[in-house]
Amino acid sequence: APVQGAPTAWTWKADMNSINSTPIKATVAGVPRIGPRRELKKAVEAHWAGTLDAVGLAEVAAQLRADSWNQLIDAGLDSVPTNTFSYYDQVLDTAVLLGAVPERYAAVADDLERYFAAARGNDQLPPLEMTKWFDTNYHYLVPEIDDRTAFSLNPNGILADLREAAQVVSGRAGLRPVVIGPATFLKLAKATPGSGEPFARLSELTPLYAELVSLLAADGAAWVQFDEPVLATDLTAEEISAIAEVYSTLAAVADRPAIEVAVYFGDPGEALAPLLVTGIDAIGLDLVSGSVPAGEVDLSAVQVVAGVVDGRNVWRTDPDTALQKLQELAGRAAGVAVSTSCSLLHVPYTTEGEDDLDPAVRRWLAFGTEKLSEVDLLARALNDGTDSVAAELGAAREILASRAADPRLANSAVRQRLAEVIESGAQRGSAQVREQLQAQRLGLPPLPTTTIGSFPQTPEIRRTRAGFKNGRIDETAYTKAMQDEIAAVIELQTELGLDVLVHGEPERNDMVQYFAELLEGYASTANGWVQSYGSRCVRPPILWGDVSRPEPMTVGWWQYAQSLTDKPVKGMLTGPVTIIAWSFVRDDQPLAESANQVALAIRDETVDLEAAGAAIIQVDEPALRELLPLRAADQRAYLDWSVGAFRLATSGVRDETQVHTHLCYSEFGEVIDAIAGLDADVTSIEAARSKMEIVDDLGSSGFAAAVGPGVYDIHSPRVPDTAEVAELLQLALKGVPANRLWVNPDCGLKTRGTTEVKAALQNLVAATERAREGL
Ligand code: GLN
Ligand code: ZN
Repeated sequence: APVQGAPTAWTWKADMNSINSTPIKATVAGVPRIGPRRELKKAVEAHWAGTLDAVGLAEVAAQLRADSWNQLIDAGLDSVPTNTFSYYDQVLDTAVLLGAVPERYAAVADDLERYFAAARGNDQLPPLEMTKWFDTNYHYLVPEIDDRTAFSLNPNGILADLREAAQVVSGRAGLRPVVIGPATFLKLAKATPGSGEPFARLSELTPLYAELVSLLAADGAAWVQFDEPVLATDLTAEEISAIAEVYSTLAAVADRPAIEVAVYFGDPGEALAPLLVTGIDAIGLDLVSGSVPAGEVDLSAVQVVAGVVDGRNVWRTDPDTALQKLQELAGRAAGVAVSTSCSLLHVPYTTEGEDDLDPAVRRWLAFGTEKLSEVDLLARALNDGTDSVAAELGAAREILASRAADPRLANSAVRQRLAEVIESGAQRGSAQVREQLQAQRLGLPPLPTTTIGSFPQTPEIRRTRAGFKNGRIDETAYTKAMQDEIAAVIELQTELGLDVLVHGEPERNDMVQYFAELLEGYASTANGWVQSYGSRCVRPPILWGDVSRPEPMTVGWWQYAQSLTDKPVKGMLTGPVTIIAWSFVRDDQPLAESANQVALAIRDETVDLEAAGAAIIQVDEPALRELLPLRAADQRAYLDWSVGAFRLATSGVRDETQVHTHLCYSEFGEVIDAIAGLDADVTSIEAARSKMEIVDDLGSSGFAAAVGPGVYDIHSPRVPDTAEVAELLQLALKGVPANRLWVNPDCGLKTRGTTEVKAALQNLVAATERAREGL
């Protein structure tokens, strides 16, 4: 039931706080920075290309920051985050702040160019490594910490940003610089070989952060927000107390802004209680992926910045659920601010202009701009009472009800079929039986050679696809162009002497979007860009309803390719977990449910491919590890349903049909058993860079199926020579028996050039022939 009126008790409780913590009513944890029209992407890329100088780039950046602050204030927020802008990545910015940029970049004299060198590398220097930011699709640059890294505070950037914000905001709202906290920074950093764990140096950062808070106070920050999402991961008791000690020290700094520690992407768990007694003024909680702390947790010493609006998914907030959480907190905490669960970095800017979306679906969505209105509405409901906003709440409820009632969210035909398939077992014959049947059917040589699927996507292919999309090219011409491309790729593979061919995927803009566009229950946006890393943006499709496959999605292209050759052409599909991982997904049912529906559609496709004659079908799952929950206790359940969804997708075919899967990485760690659990007949993985390390891991985990550890690193334009590939093959043969070893590149070839691909594959085939002689 809607809650009447809001307790005002917290207003006076806040006075009991020793520090000048002006209560916050409405805010967001952070904002996107790429620009509503990807202005920053265009500007930095122009700068890298030499067509926009540093001054021009700075102007674009300043305009984006000003627009963003103004938008937050216009939306009614009373505290605005600053320091959320970045030319590339906020973790690299923090490394700069703490003097932790590796020494090797010091040779680049100019600050901005040195920063970009660390981010992207230059002619002489490789960039920092990049990896995923927790369980999101944002990628950060991994700081390298050496035993010799001498931390030092470089506050100029953050202070300049604060002064700029003060000018723009000019008293209309409080300013709250956002800084990655010391624990998260060190936990995300990696030690250089031979150096100790970065986290062991936590206490060295304390004085730097202490100095920073003083400087921020002196420059007029009312608050500072330290982002510590690492508190939502498993930490030892020692680590937690070390972190609490840092915050106790910061809280004891005499002249400082009020301190918020923001935890997101999950609950702080065991870390919460120790943190609450450090003297910090506020705790930011993610109340979407996490929950309101248990009743026995004493929140009376802090304000809670309550992340009730989902910062990483695209659905409108249920105001009643949110208000219930807010009301409960209001009775327990020294204050409650309405906020987003995490930074809005992870969602597109606005649904404005998304005119091609199904109008019903569009109403259910809240992107960044729309979420600001939700925060504001909830804050007014909480502080002025729900009566004062009854009409707005009513409108929000009506939209939510229309979503819940839409029959396309509960398609009984889909649900019934799914239940039946699951009931019937989704199980293939034994691995030995399959192996025999497939060997007979395929008659492949030992060490069969193949590729991962895509061939170089030339500008011409991209132009043709774009032309078809915007109507410049008709369907007949488009089909012809794609078929010509497929024919060229088949001819190339035949010339090279590869054993198992692919059609090359020219018709796919993206391995997830391609399928999302053909599935019922999925929508694509026109401008729903989200930063993936640096200037790279993605436009994740939106899974909004029950998923079904109106008609075959890949069979025609496969048939054409197979008609040109006697060698087997692999059917090529994206797996359900990867489709889910790279989409915005429904929040009204468990992820497993959505994954199973996608799996059923992919299963239907495998059955159709098989009926059309495909002897080998590859179902890629490069994102299997990406959705792995942050806490170990949740990982088993995830692996169970994700592996289950893959098996659902791949168990509809006969035992003589060979199922391949491809995983992009080789650091399997905690998922190694799950990979065996996928029960694929052949698994291709990345291995060239790590020099086949994975082969030993697979051996020791009892993995018994065939594997294709990559022998050609496709992430670099370098062409490996025959000797290099032969050496990798010999390494692989030490751990994998010859009758189970496949020979292939690390990943798809779409980002490479045709000339280098041809040369590299030639060497791959030559090295394989040499290895076969030695068998
Ligand atoms: N089949 C896809 C390709 O070759 C696989 C890409 C991937 O694993 N990311 O491009
Ligand atoms: Zn890959």
